[in-house]
Amino acid sequence: RLAYVNGRIVPLAQASVSIEDRAYLFADGIYEVASIFGGALFDWPLHLERMARSLNELQIRAPMSDAALRIAAERLIRKSGVSTGMLYLQITRGAARRDHAFPDARTPPGLSMIARPFDFSRRVPEQQVGMTAITAADQRWSRRDIKSVALLPNVIAKQAGKEAGAYETIMIDPDGTVTEGSSTTVWVVDRDGTIVTRPLSHAVLPGLKRRRLIGLLEDAGETVAERSYDVAALKDAAEVFVTSTSSPVMPIVSIGGEAVGDGTPGPASLTACRLMWEEIERQTGW
Ligand code: PLP
Repeated sequence: RLAYVNGRIVPLAQASVSIEDRAYLFADGIYEVASIFGGALFDWPLHLERMARSLNELQIRAPMSDAALRIAAERLIRKSGVSTGMLYLQITRGAARRDHAFPDARTPPGLSMIARPFDFSRRVPEQQVGMTAITAADQRWSRRDIKSVALLPNVIAKQAGKEAGAYETIMIDPDGTVTEGSSTTVWVVDRDGTIVTRPLSHAVLPGLKRRRLIGLLEDAGETVAERSYDVAALKDAAEVFVTSTSSPVMPIVSIGGEAVGDGTPGPASLTACRLMWEEIERQTGW
């Protein structure tokens, strides 16, 4: 296995960064995860856009131009021999003597990437049966819109789900509203068939599957509403599904042991699954 680290592609076992890297010391960095189908990056321009936004919000310098980054990423994917999988990309504020305040502006940002195979085809049968979830308090900071590597609350939430035998943990704000999953965007379908997801704000990550799916659903004539909803509406929903790069659309058929709807993936969820696969096929030929 290979990795890209600060300009070089090396065997993963030899890929290393300084222990003074600020991502290691302060979680001072951002990341992106993009899917690869047939060797091609899906929705890469959207990832670049979100990456630039995260960097800008944190005043971290981009390590290279978008064009150079694309070349480096595609070279890594090719050399790694990944046909279907995921690209992980991380940019940090670089390595400098430990001090909370930003280092000298000339400190080069750190850039690392790994491309790994992932069998997306296994998602197809999983989608037909759906997955389970639990809920937990959202313990994150107030800028969840930034895709920062500071994921400890997400890690703790995901682990709680895993220990409960659930696929995802849906996080609830102190005001009782649903924010998102530990690594997914959450959607509910209400009793009149409206497909609802929380509006973008500092409270949630701007999911790219979310963005893509809103357009696909609307083009297909579905009714989509971007509004907040509380945990009671989540539990009372006709359908629930989650979206993310690693599981493009995944129906959730039970929450905390209680069935969602009739406990099987509903029609809106299955429509969302189909539209997303069609879009992946359209873009990448997969
Ligand atoms: N919300 C959180 C907290 C995430 O970590 C992720 C992705 O990993 C998402 C939502 C979904 O984002 P995307 O659709 O861009 O993968």
